[in-house]
Amino acid sequence: MGGFNQAALLEAIRRGGGTVTRADLARVTGLSPQTVTNAVRRLLETGLVAEESVQRRAGAGPGRPGTTLDIVPDSKYAIGVHLDPATVVVVLLDLGGTVVATRSAPAPASEKPDDVLDVVAREVGAIVATSGVDVARVLGVGLATPGPIDRQRGLVLDPPHLTRWHDVPLRDEVARRTGFPTLLDKDVLAVAAAICWYPETGRPTDAAVVYVGTGVAMAVISGGEIVRGVSGNAGEAGHLSVGRPFGPCSCGREGCLGGVLSTGAILTNAGARGIHLAAATDEEVSPSLRADHAVDELGVLAGAGDAQALGFLNDMGEALGSAVVTVCQLLDLDTVVPSGPVWERLGPWLVPGLRRVLDGSPLPGHHAVRVLPTDQGINVAAVGAACLMLDDALTPKTTGLLLRV
Ligand SMILES: [Zn+2]
Repeated sequence: MGGFNQAALLEAIRRGGGTVTRADLARVTGLSPQTVTNAVRRLLETGLVAEESVQRRAGAGPGRPGTTLDIVPDSKYAIGVHLDPATVVVVLLDLGGTVVATRSAPAPASEKPDDVLDVVAREVGAIVATSGVDVARVLGVGLATPGPIDRQRGLVLDPPHLTRWHDVPLRDEVARRTGFPTLLDKDVLAVAAAICWYPETGRPTDAAVVYVGTGVAMAVISGGEIVRGVSGNAGEAGHLSVGRPFGPCSCGREGCLGGVLSTGAILTNAGARGIHLAAATDEEVSPSLRADHAVDELGVLAGAGDAQALGFLNDMGEALGSAVVTVCQLLDLDTVVPSGPVWERLGPWLVPGLRRVLDGSPLPGHHAVRVLPTDQGINVAAVGAACLMLDDALTPKTTGLLLRV
C-alpha cells in the first residue's frame, strides 16, 4: 500500500472522519509538511482518499483556504468470516467500515474441516458475486475462529468445541479456495478489533471484551492496544474461576467460567436444574447446533417470565461478573463490552447479575466500570475479522502474517 508513511497517513485520515487537513496530518504523524504533501498526492492518485474544500463545510473559520481529506469508502473492501462451531457468518465491509453485505449458513453437521472449508469458500464466493463489488477492490479475507491458533502458520490447533480439528491449515486453505489473501485470528481478538475500529463505541482504551458463543472468551484492550500474548492466544477465559460450581468444565474441574457460559454447559446445567429444553433430546443436529438451539429456548422461557429460567440466568450473570471483576481488578479496566451470539440472545437477563457483582466489588481507583454493548450485533466477530484485514492492508505495521496469493 505504498510504505509506512502513506499507511500512517491513511490511518490518521480514516480516524479523522473527514475533518483532517494536511497541516493536521503533519502535526499528528510528526512527518514534515513536504512529506505529507507528497504522500497525500500519491494517496489521492490511488483513489483511496478524496479531498473537500474547507470553505464548503459549515463553521469553517476565516483564513487561508484549505482542504480536508477523507477516505473513499467504496475504493476498497474486506471480507470477514466468523467460523463458529454452529454457524459460518460472512460479511463484506467497505473501507469506511460499513457492512455492505452479510451472509450466514449453518456449519456442517459433520464438523469436518473439509466440509467447513467448502461452506466458507461457497459463502465468500457468493457474497462477492451477489454484492456486485469489483473483485479487484477486495483486499482479502479475515478469518475469526475459535482458538487456540498458530497465527504465524495460519493453523487452527485443537479447539475444545471442534473435536475433529487438529492443526488445520485454515488460512492457507481459504486463500487457496477463494483466491484472496487471507489472515487468521482468534474470534475474541477479532471482536476486540471491531471495538477498536469503530468510533461509535468511543474506542475504549482499557476494556474487557467478553465473547459468549459456543465457548466463552475474554480479550483485553489495554492502553488502546489489543493484548495478544506471546502466541497470539490471549483471551482464554474458560478456566477463570467463578467461585461457585455450576457443573464440570471441559478441564474436569468445577467452578470454571466455561462450565457456566458455553452453550454446551448451558444445555447441561439447565437440565440439572430441572429446566426442560426440547433441544436436549434432538439427535438430528450436531452437538454444537443442539446446544445453540437450547440457548434460543432458554431465551423464550426467560422472555415469558419463567422463574426457573430467570433464576438460572441471574446466576449465570453473577458468575460472569466474578470473572470480569478479576480481570478489571488486575488490569484497572473501566469498560466491559459483552458480545457474541449467546450474549445477543440472553444478554438482557445476564446484565443484572453482571452489574450487581461489578457494583459490589472493590475496584482499583474507585472508578465505575461501564457495561457497553457493541453496535455490530450478532455478526461482530465477522465484522472484526474484516477490520483486521483492512488494518493489515492499510495500517502502518508489518505483521508478516498475511498469506498473499
Ligand atoms: Zn476449566
